[in-house]
Amino acid sequence: VNLGLFGGTFNPIHNGHLRAAEEACEALGLDRLLFVPAMLPPHKRNAELADADLRLRLVRAAIRGNPRFGVSAAELRRVGPSYSVDTLAEFRGRRGTERLWFVMGADQFRDIRTWHRYREIFALADIAVLSRPPDTAMPPPPAELAGDLAPHAGGYRHASGREVRFVPITPLAISSTDVRRALREGRSIRYLVPEAVRRVLEQT
Ligand code: ATP
Ligand code: MG
Repeated sequence: VNLGLFGGTFNPIHNGHLRAAEEACEALGLDRLLFVPAMLPPHKRNAELADADLRLRLVRAAIRGNPRFGVSAAELRRVGPSYSVDTLAEFRGRRGTERLWFVMGADQFRDIRTWHRYREIFALADIAVLSRPPDTAMPPPPAELAGDLAPHAGGYRHASGREVRFVPITPLAISSTDVRRALREGRSIRYLVPEAVRRVLEQT
């Protein structure tokens, strides 16, 4: 199985996530892509972070009907902060996984230097960097990794043999921050999120 993991807070999941995930599946030939909602994202303030169960429920509602999509509660089960490096290590050892991709938007890749044990991430999985407005190209990888990364097919090849690949996708400038703001201000979120998500959010 060619598996992709798409991490994030998904607070809440929106159509930018879903379209990005769909295009990542096509571009990378993924058999399966799992959304992995984070419990305590080390980089995010906890203010406004919707309850983990609600975020998980909304992801489930949003992906219903797409046979390639799934959700993993791996980071919600773990005690303490969720670190991608631990999640990747957990999935890498799974039976039947021929190739493991860590999928993220360009904004996340730009900050990867600040992640816990980030150097190991480059050796644990192939990394797919999806374009996200305003980024139309791959942000530069951490300078500390320069010696380990060689240019390769529009991205890089890591010394471990793993790949870092840039995947240009349809630009959709939707963010959870904007969805939360619209909700707070009583404005419409229709067509920013799937209907099933809108129905839950507009009544909570
Ligand atoms: P927030 O505004 O709360 O940060 P977000 O919209 O950035 O929310 P996240 O849960 O932080 O959503 O993102 C999860 C993953 O999805 C990240 O890798 C992020 O880069 C990617 N992503 C989110 N929105 C888009 C988008 N519109 N296009 C491409 N990638 C996206
Ligand atoms: Mg974000």
